[in-house]
Amino acid sequence: MSKTIIVSNRLPVKVLKKNDGELVYKPSEGGLATGLGSIYKKGNNLWVGWPGRFFKKKDKKLEAKKKLESQNMKPVFLAQEEITLYYEGFSNETLWPNFHYFNQYALYRKSYWDAYEKVNQKFCDEILSELEPGDKVWVHDYQLMLVPQMIRERKPDVSVGFFLHIPFPSFEVFRLLPWRRQLLDGVLGSDLIGFHTYDDMRHFLSAVSRICYISNHHGQIQKDRRTVVTDSFPIGIDYDKYASQAAHPETLKREVEYRTSLGDQKLILSIDRLDYSKGIPARLQIFDIFLKKYPQYQGKVSLMMVVVPSRDSVEKYKDLKEEVDLLVGRINGKYGTVNWTPIHYFYRSFPLEDLSAFYRMADVAMVTPMRDGMNLVCKEYVASKLDQTGVLILSEMAGASKELSDALIVNPNDKHQVVDAIYRALTMTEEEQKKHISIMQKTLKKFNIHHWVSLFLGKLDDVTRKRDELA
Ligand code: UDP
Repeated sequence: MSKTIIVSNRLPVKVLKKNDGELVYKPSEGGLATGLGSIYKKGNNLWVGWPGRFFKKKDKKLEAKKKLESQNMKPVFLAQEEITLYYEGFSNETLWPNFHYFNQYALYRKSYWDAYEKVNQKFCDEILSELEPGDKVWVHDYQLMLVPQMIRERKPDVSVGFFLHIPFPSFEVFRLLPWRRQLLDGVLGSDLIGFHTYDDMRHFLSAVSRICYISNHHGQIQKDRRTVVTDSFPIGIDYDKYASQAAHPETLKREVEYRTSLGDQKLILSIDRLDYSKGIPARLQIFDIFLKKYPQYQGKVSLMMVVVPSRDSVEKYKDLKEEVDLLVGRINGKYGTVNWTPIHYFYRSFPLEDLSAFYRMADVAMVTPMRDGMNLVCKEYVASKLDQTGVLILSEMAGASKELSDALIVNPNDKHQVVDAIYRALTMTEEEQKKHISIMQKTLKKFNIHHWVSLFLGKLDDVTRKRDELA
């Protein structure tokens, strides 16, 4: 029986090592792991990826391999140097800044590129060792852009899908990458290429046209006598998970506890990984301007800011952490009183029970990235609003803004516009809040993560069937 092979940089489990050396396997709670869980665990399907840690000892490596393989996962082990150059280097210091329009942060190092090619080949070899006629392969994200073509070269008849989870930048930005041609050729090894938004797809097609000199017809590209189909598939969340967590007794208990300590202040919520693409310093400056412009809210509204540590070995992220710490301290020092803290700042991650309580408690969610492929936090906030009150302020630079047009959509660079959006959110009638949240809930409930998975895989089947009929 043919199988589906999912490929991503990380496996959907984290392998942790306890002090006594025992390995423990913690399933990832991310949306992708949930959505694809029903796929890779079935029959002889498989998930190929890096187990997220470096194994020094051979016996531990073998032990992990055995355990993961018994759960339909095939680990790709990376050497410490590969982690530094391919993952932290080319993926996070070259592609990530360029694709998020922060090209001034991008490093162009040949050593990074060489490692990227080598690791992509390593992933490809693992896939090839499992691949049988009739199988389909679904490759995920910017760390593995060369894999589709690498597989195609060895197995011309394979069915390959690729999904990009981050934005695809405009041609004028993408062209700055020294390896732009190789990256496009790599992805074009696919039969189907998916993006979160139509704009990302448009940018990709324009890059293919200007760099590879191949035009498209309604999103279809002819490459080496094959048809490559592109389309947009906005990723959804596990709606029922967030809605039912919001009704869970443990969530309600925590909400009461936190509310009691906060008093009856209004609460604005902000949750992100520490990343320059998320616009965290700008959000703090906006809150500062808001308190100055609308002083009647001093003592009446607090910003609850959760910043999840991320990529702290990368220099730019260390600088950002310092900038955020400084701004929070400055604003709290400037406005705070004995009875009121303007910003409740947490530099750590929280379990779902707490996140859900925060979502429930927040009168307003401020999701104002400078650039974001999709952004799931805004979707989770809406899904958690069981009584349908609450207001979402959403950056037009987040992919999610294309679906959630009932949010207060803002340009995060227009600080005064966002300041006024906060005022509008805090003064919005309950009736209007309910109208907007209910419309957004309907969309998110329908276009959930399971819908996304079946839409992409269904389309990949269609595309491959048509291809084979024409052959
Ligand atoms: N999240 C989490 N723990 C936290 C804060 C956030 O697990 O303490 C989750 C959040 O629920 C969301 C994800 O992290 O599912 C962030 O996804 P998003 O698409 O918003 O941003 P990304 O970090 O992928 O750029």
